[in-house]
Amino acid sequence: MFMSRYIGRFAPSPTGLLHIGSLIAALASYLHARASQGQWLVRMEDLDPPREMPGAASAILQSLEDHGLTWDGEVLWQSQRHDAYRQVINDLLLANKAFYCTCSRSDLQGSNGVYQGQCRGCVTPPRDHDFALRLQVEDKAVAFDDEIQGRFSQQLEREVGDVVLQRKDGFFAYQLAVVVDDAYQGVSHVVRGSDLLDSTPRQIYLQQVMAYTTPDYLHFPVITNEQGDKLSKQTFAAPLDSREACKNLCVALAFLKQALPPEELCQQVNHIVAWAVEHWSVDDIPGVLGLPQSVIPAKAGIQCCQFPL
Ligand code: GLU
Ligand code: ZN
Repeated sequence: MFMSRYIGRFAPSPTGLLHIGSLIAALASYLHARASQGQWLVRMEDLDPPREMPGAASAILQSLEDHGLTWDGEVLWQSQRHDAYRQVINDLLLANKAFYCTCSRSDLQGSNGVYQGQCRGCVTPPRDHDFALRLQVEDKAVAFDDEIQGRFSQQLEREVGDVVLQRKDGFFAYQLAVVVDDAYQGVSHVVRGSDLLDSTPRQIYLQQVMAYTTPDYLHFPVITNEQGDKLSKQTFAAPLDSREACKNLCVALAFLKQALPPEELCQQVNHIVAWAVEHWSVDDIPGVLGLPQSVIPAKAGIQCCQFPL
């Protein structure tokens, strides 16, 4: 009998150290996988060396371990996967689904950032121009049912445009690599922040074009600062301190509106994580954040017996 196997993943980009927002992503994907007796993989999305911070990749892995989040198998490094990405682009070119694009940033102005298909039909490498490679999208809607956000749909041509697969600077695009690697790793469930909701229809479209299986998706609301910006490395979210790992885990659980462990279990990360797997409840995760500042630790007023959060 065919048994469906749960394979989840956490896919950080090593552009900075883990902060509370990325811990939430790691923890949510971990708990969702483990509560389903699934595997949990870690993939390092080191696609963009100029944006990377030296030492961040190994610091991220150390930080995951310090927070009791142990992954299955070997870490997959996207920097080792260039041949696979190149192969997929070649297949798409042969199938007339990808094309060379020489447009400059200023060529693209005036269309709300949505590419208007200017270079469609350019199927041989332009000689004297730098070029990107794009996937030609169809004029159709792609919709999916998110486990938290419900149904989400985008009209590809109008709202997304032809998707960049390889950038003008030669680096492979996140949208390509994430799809190729989710398929390669057999990922069945993608759990990540709602900042990526907008990217999901184009990823599903690419899966359809490549005849890959589409995973299930769950986008939890992203943590924001008091100005309402996503708390990311770019907005200087403080790096996680592993000496506060137990507290960090409780803050992350509180953000996801999960029950918090009793005091006697709050001394060790392994106890907190095991308890959280046991009590994981997707239904309690909010779809949107009512009051962003309520999740900033200093103001949270979260009741955890152990930590004044
Ligand atoms: N590497 C992406 C990020 O750190 C996440 C990719 C994903 O989960 O699909 O934002
Ligand atoms: Zn173009």
